[in-house]
This record gives sequence, structure tokens and C-alpha cells, in this order.
Amino acid sequence: MGKPVISLALAGIPVELERKSIKNIYLRVVPPAGTVRLSAPKRATLEELARFVAKHTAWIEERQAKIAATPPPSARRFLSGERVYLWGVPLELVVKFGRGCNVVLRDGSRLILSLKAQETESSPAAREALLNEWYRRELSRAVPPLLARAESIVGKRAAEWHIKNMKTKWGTCNICAHRIWLSLHLAKYPLPCLEYIIIHELTHLWERYHNAHFKSLMDRFCPDWRERKKLVDTPLED
Ligand SMILES: [Zn+2]
Repeated sequence: MGKPVISLALAGIPVELERKSIKNIYLRVVPPAGTVRLSAPKRATLEELARFVAKHTAWIEERQAKIAATPPPSARRFLSGERVYLWGVPLELVVKFGRGCNVVLRDGSRLILSLKAQETESSPAAREALLNEWYRRELSRAVPPLLARAESIVGKRAAEWHIKNMKTKWGTCNICAHRIWLSLHLAKYPLPCLEYIIIHELTHLWERYHNAHFKSLMDRFCPDWRERKKLVDTPLED
């Protein structure tokens, strides 16, 4: 049984409220409709909650606008004619069914996906998985030289680094283990974006939080990081 969720309007905004045994109020905006979810301590009054929502109106609207601008992932079928990206360059997807083995090959401005399966036996998820493996290989090749350079700029070393299919984060850093995770989707964006994320994660080895100290370090290590961040945070056109 799930916890009871109450729908109501707070500060003029429709909200789904869930009471929990927690200390603080938590606010989330969730896709696909940009629904506002509020988790609140059992004893918080509606007035307190309305004040909390009112204080975060700008943030809620910003999150909702971002969600509205993001196409649903199911829109992609990974079939011929669709557009995919490698290092910021758009490529036309060409899918060939019933070939000897599963292979991805770049041919100029085209990306050829040859699949062992017939079209009826192949799913969008399987085609996406094959493409993601290819992105993973591309990224594995691109990371080592960028990481070596970033380490000398930042003055910290990653003990290990890995690639993961992360959809909501570009990278993470385990500062105890000096371990860095990078999203394989970074291979879709221009190379300076990958370099920026690597520098960002290494900078966490100096400063855990995204505070003024962190930003001043980033200004030193990667002076145009704000432009690179903007680029990587802008969804690619289909
Ligand atoms: Zn960070």
C-alpha cells in the first residue's frame, strides 16, 4: 500500500501532498506533466507549506518549462531517417535489418546500424542499446587524454573512472574513493562539454558542494565553464 497522497492548491499551484515521518519539506517537479510533489513532515501546517511553495515558485516554473521542452523518450524509434549525434555533429541514422552481426559504423554524415534481427524481431530498446554501446566505446576512447590534461590542470587525480547510462546526471564523483562516473550520453555533445564535466567532477576532490568556493575553482580551471554548461544542458534537436 502506498502512502495517501492529497491533491490541493498551495500558493495558487496544484500540488500532490504526501505526509511522511521526515524532518524537512521536499519539493519535486516530475515528468511528463510537470506535476508538483511535496513531501512534508506530519506536523507541518498548510500555511507553512503554502509559504514554502510560494518561495519556490520561480524554481517550479523553471523546472516545468524544462520538462515541457524535453521530448518524451518514447518518441524515438531508432529507425532510418532519425537524427543522432556524435560529439555535437548530427548524423543520419540508417538501419539495416537481417545482416550478419550487430554492428554500428559511421560513414561520413550517416550512422549505419546493421542488425542481425529482422525488423519485426527488433525493438526500439534493442536498437538504442546497440547505439549506447557504441557511444560507450566512443567515450572510452575520448576520456583518457582529456582526463590526463584535466588532472594536471585541477591538481587532483581520479583513482578510477567509469561510464554509466545516466539520464539525469552528466557525471558524479565519489570523493572518498576518488571515483568518477560519466554519462555515456556525453558522447552526443561537443567534446568541450565532456572536458567541462571531467574538470567539474575532479574539482569536487577540492570542494564537495557547488558553492562560491567551487565556482571560483571552476573559474580558474575552466574559465568558460558557464558557456559549456549551457551547451550541455540544452537538449539536442531531434
Ligand atoms: Zn557537481
